[in-house]
Amino acid sequence: MRARWTIVAALSLAAACSDNSQQPTSPTQSIAEDRTELATGPRTHVFYAKGQAGRKPGSADMIWHNGPIMTSVVSQNIFWGTSWANYSGDKITGLDAFMGGYSGSNYAKTSDEYTGTNGTVGNTVTAGSHIIDATAASGGGNTGAILAEVCKVITNPVANGYYSVYTDLPRGNAGYCAWHSHGTCNGVGVQFAFFWKLDGDAGCDPVDNTTGHSQGLAALANVAAHELSEARTDPDVQGGWYDRQGAENGDKCAWTFNVASVTFSNGTRWKVQGEWSNKAFDTGTGYPNRSGQKGCLDGH
Ligand SMILES: [Zn+2]
Repeated sequence: MRARWTIVAALSLAAACSDNSQQPTSPTQSIAEDRTELATGPRTHVFYAKGQAGRKPGSADMIWHNGPIMTSVVSQNIFWGTSWANYSGDKITGLDAFMGGYSGSNYAKTSDEYTGTNGTVGNTVTAGSHIIDATAASGGGNTGAILAEVCKVITNPVANGYYSVYTDLPRGNAGYCAWHSHGTCNGVGVQFAFFWKLDGDAGCDPVDNTTGHSQGLAALANVAAHELSEARTDPDVQGGWYDRQGAENGDKCAWTFNVASVTFSNGTRWKVQGEWSNKAFDTGTGYPNRSGQKGCLDGH
């Protein structure tokens, strides 16, 4: 979901960072603000929890908005929060494997039909070593604070960088599971994404009963697939691909699953939602989203 605020909240900015995005909205505000979705400008793309997605995807095909896409991705996972210091579960190793296996996967290739000013979306993700920052994390309500964290820990930001910030904070009353946005670190424009801790969070749970991943890892992987696919196809302020209601390729297939798990290029399996394909919709070859539109693909 792309959302846009008319009332700009104050953001705290670190000196080395400039923030191009605005605060995620509450569900009520997002529905109102969706009416301005075609306006260009800074924005943050919120992935709503199950009960919060009040509006169904409307118009079918996505439209190009004259900006760039990501021809390739350099990724680093950032685990932010005090509890990561002594973490012994499967989320860190699992999300590293997820990113490594996303690269070149048939799942990633479902986003490859889209083009932008700089070329065609590519499915290569070069995953760097993860970073653990065991200082206290901040939540998703302030995009500037998340960008500041990215700029703090990523010492060599690159223009095709996509930096995922996995916090140890539960969602609480927030209506979204995650979001992606963009900003600038040391003069380099980067993509970044924010994730709540989704352990025991039914609103953000894909209900993966087959892969053996912990529930918390399975939930993060599903939203990570959504955010990364959206960043690749709609990364920048100038606008990539989204439909008339502002829905990006992840949004249009949110919370719909075609198969129990999808196998990635490194053999790992994940229960992940599909991603919208204009081609699949136009030819009736996708599986249906929540509105019954057959435009979702998962590459399985
Ligand atoms: Zn989204």
